[in-house]
Amino acid sequence: MVDYIGIEGIQGIVGRLGPARFIEGLAAEIEADYRRWGEFDKSARHAIHSPVGVIELMPTSDGQMYSFKYVNGHPKNTARGLLTVTAFGVLADVETGYPLLLSELTVTTALRTAAMSALAARWMARPDSRVMALIGNGAQSEFQAIAFHHMLGIREFRLFDVDPQATQKLARNLQALGLPDLHMTLCSSAAEAVAGADIVTTVTADKRNATILTPEMIAPGMHLNAVGGDCPGKTELHADILLRADARVIVEYEPQSRIEGEIQQLPADFAVTEFAQVLGGDAPGRASPAEVTIFDSVGFALEDYSALRYLYKLQREQKQPEEIDLIPHLDNPKDLFGLLSTSSVNSIAAPSSGRTVPGLAAEVAAT
Ligand code: NAD
Repeated sequence: MVDYIGIEGIQGIVGRLGPARFIEGLAAEIEADYRRWGEFDKSARHAIHSPVGVIELMPTSDGQMYSFKYVNGHPKNTARGLLTVTAFGVLADVETGYPLLLSELTVTTALRTAAMSALAARWMARPDSRVMALIGNGAQSEFQAIAFHHMLGIREFRLFDVDPQATQKLARNLQALGLPDLHMTLCSSAAEAVAGADIVTTVTADKRNATILTPEMIAPGMHLNAVGGDCPGKTELHADILLRADARVIVEYEPQSRIEGEIQQLPADFAVTEFAQVLGGDAPGRASPAEVTIFDSVGFALEDYSALRYLYKLQREQKQPEEIDLIPHLDNPKDLFGLLSTSSVNSIAAPSSGRTVPGLAAEVAAT
């Protein structure tokens, strides 16, 4: 049997801790894993692009456990009533290759992205940061706000989205948290939201080189948490922001960020720092209060590994963890066919009605 976390499962796990504590716990797991960066087998994720989106696979392993995430990004989906980003993933035991956990990762991706953003900001933003602009108020946005309120002490959020209904939804959801020290200002442009902010989070979805932030919006000392630009031809920052003399750009895994991050707009020799170098003490997250720090986030497989392991631990603490029969359990592992040689064969071989499966030449036979 393989542990399973579906939508009800993740609602239960996050519900027990509350999103803020879950995010903080996950950030600690992610930090611990980034501190042992050298132990991970790393590669840029495998992406298949279409004119409207991308489908990606994100594998990694530390030699003990292996994980992968399937994730998509389809910015036009919301117009059809569908999510822009959906995901699921697997945690497996390297010793046997057996899967340990099959989990939803759509909600978890939002939680882990917020955890990673806040973790990076802890090392990069000015410690006295209290005001954050949050541009892009879609599915990820509440998670970002909760993480920055809880982990960074952000008390005022300046919200903007080209879709005012998205901003109203975010404001309603944040209000419903009942946090007396969380204040919101609804803004009518990105420039208005950014004015006076200590931290600027961009988490928009548009499959093009957008310029959500332009150079004149940026003040010395700001920290930019650029989350939405995460695949080729999909960016959020004007390149001149990255080229500022006082800018420090930090990425997750450089080979992947060169392809997908804001830095795809810059020459390949543009100097960046990997977050693991900051944790390892090899580079500062911020060298002075006046620097403009930029976390060029794209999402790296290690963060999903951390999330899956964290979920597996929380799932195993439950009295009756949900399981599914994904992998056969055999008395004789060489007799896989024996699994089919009983009456179960008939039920497996007999679909109840004929149907055409896209990509298959023949119709599946009706019986
Ligand atoms: P979403 O579609 O639910 O929300 C995106 C919001 O951006 C929408 O409300 C849209 O109206 C708004 N928007 C689009 N263009 C805008 C503009 N010019 N100015 C202001 N707002 C604008 O998507 P989501 O699930 O919230 O994801 C947001 C982005 O984050 C996506 O691009 C996604 O690929 C990315 N993402 C990155 C990571 C990471 O690790 N870096 C993880 C998850 C998602």
